[in-house]
Amino acid sequence: MNIAIDGPAGAGKSSIAKRVAKEMSFVYVDTGAMFRTMAYYFLQNGIDTADETQVAANCDKIEIRIEYKNDEQHIFLNGTDVSTEIRKEEVGNNASIVAKYSVVREKLLQLQRNMAETSNVIMDGRDIGTVVLPNAEVKIFLTASSRVRAERRYKELVEKGEVCNLDDIEKDIIARDEQDMNRDIAPLKQAEDAVLVDSSYMTIDEVVETIQKIAKDR
Ligand code: C5P
Repeated sequence: MNIAIDGPAGAGKSSIAKRVAKEMSFVYVDTGAMFRTMAYYFLQNGIDTADETQVAANCDKIEIRIEYKNDEQHIFLNGTDVSTEIRKEEVGNNASIVAKYSVVREKLLQLQRNMAETSNVIMDGRDIGTVVLPNAEVKIFLTASSRVRAERRYKELVEKGEVCNLDDIEKDIIARDEQDMNRDIAPLKQAEDAVLVDSSYMTIDEVVETIQKIAKDR
């Protein structure tokens, strides 16, 4: 069985998917990390992410590998574990830019499908239910208002000791959603057969329970 979870940035997809994976003994696959890793390579190597030709010319130099240590996904870029480095805002914003290019999406699509073929996965991203795993048995579209998503992100950053501004975070989130929803290839959208879950006023436990119930009913 495969579970697809799509939704906008900061809806809580990864925290929730990790919990569901643990409870149901599924493998959690974070596809956003793959786009982030590509973006991280381009940033590290001075490649302008806005220039599709430059990005395309360098894609073959990137080898991405996923490994699991204590059930945690680790992502390797050309042999180096970059799981922590890719979490920065700058990397996320550039991931959204390169995610528009077919050359980047094609490269990651095969890796994502292979993982779902070999294990029971719960995979999160933007196009899992629509493009990557159109036959997934369970599809969830997880969302929350932009303000609630910004507040969650703000709290995380403050806890890490970072100085930030709630309105700026919300603006960034809205801009990323717009970019992800309006691209030509594999835009962020709810699959026709996906169940919409709005987590704005739900706890993590409630969302996890809701998804498990949907999965058990299938
Ligand atoms: O989920 P996360 O914020 O880590 O994803 C970073 C970016 O990668 C997203 O804003 C989106 O543009 C892109 N992405 C995508 N398709 C996926 C997963 C992520 O286009 N399946």
